[in-house]
Order: sequence, then structure tokens, then C-alpha cells
Amino acid sequence: MIGNPPPEAHPNLGGAVRHCVVCGAPLERRVWAFDGTEQLCCTRPGCTYVHFLDPKVAAGVIPTFGGKTILLQRAHNPGKGLWTFPGGYVNQGEVVQKAAAREALEEAAVEVRVGALLGVYSFDRFPTILIVFAGEVVSGEPRAAAESTALRLVGAEEIPFGDLAFDTTRAAMRDWQEWMRTGRVSGTAL
Ligand SMILES: [Zn+2]
Repeated sequence: MIGNPPPEAHPNLGGAVRHCVVCGAPLERRVWAFDGTEQLCCTRPGCTYVHFLDPKVAAGVIPTFGGKTILLQRAHNPGKGLWTFPGGYVNQGEVVQKAAAREALEEAAVEVRVGALLGVYSFDRFPTILIVFAGEVVSGEPRAAAESTALRLVGAEEIPFGDLAFDTTRAAMRDWQEWMRTGRVSGTAL
């Protein structure tokens, strides 16, 4: 089992962003006068650009197929060789549920009807907010497609928690398990 990828490895947390995207001058991390937080600010006098390190939004779906669900083995890092359900980044202007369905089609070659919200998952210093839905396969035969090296079907009592890729994956699968058992999700308390 691995944890989450180190946040500093993610370009969205600023490690790889060095220049102003408006004027090209170097950025520096300094206290932003507007609210006193530390931000990546442009160093050119007169340029007010601030590079905010926004979270990335990802969507996933845990679809049922013959009473089981689909797990995909990741072909790439982070989490190469470990397992997760279909999911990926939401594009700007894309409906979140449609992003989840698109990922299921791209990664597992199935059309999915996206259903109830299972949860919204985020962790300290983790760059991604993951939104996960339950769902149901409505057409297609599941197979490992883009970004996956293998696919397996597992029942709610057969989830390989030790081989799941991220904390967000484990949290969402726990909620899906509860949802399959009880038809409800209690949510994650802070
Ligand atoms: Zn600038």
C-alpha cells in the first residue's frame, strides 16, 4: 500500500511554476497585501498577476455491473500497479457527472449511468478534490482501456483495500461498501 503522492511533486502546488503567465517575469513567494496570505506574485513592477494554487477537481464513478464493480490497475504513476475505480480530472466547462461518465468510457469501455453522490474527498495538502458517484453500467463489456493495464470485477465484500491507489480511493470505496450494504452513506466527519 502507498499513501498519496507527495504534494510538492504536483505542479499545481507551485514547485514547477516559476514565471508570470501574463508577462513572463519571475514569480516570487511573498505575502500578498490584499489578504496577508503567502502567494506566488509577479516581480515586475506594475504587473499585479498572482498565481493562485487552486485545487484540481477530479470526478469518479463506482459503477455496478452484475452486482460487482469495476477496478482498474493503473498503468502510470502516481499509484502505478495499484487499483482504482474510473475517474480523472474535470475539464473546465464540463459537467462533473459527465466527466465521471467520460472517464468510465475511456478507461473501462463502458457506458455508465451516473447516480447518487457518494462523497467529496479531500485531504490536508493533497492537491486534488475528488467527487465520486455511484453508477450503473448500461452498455458495453468492461475491459481495461486507456491508462489501465488490467481490470477486475469485485463485490462489495471483496474490495482489496491494501492494493487501492490513494487515500481518496480507499475513502470512496468504504462509502460505496456502506451504500451497497445499507443504501445510505454517512459521510466523512472532520
Ligand atoms: Zn507579470
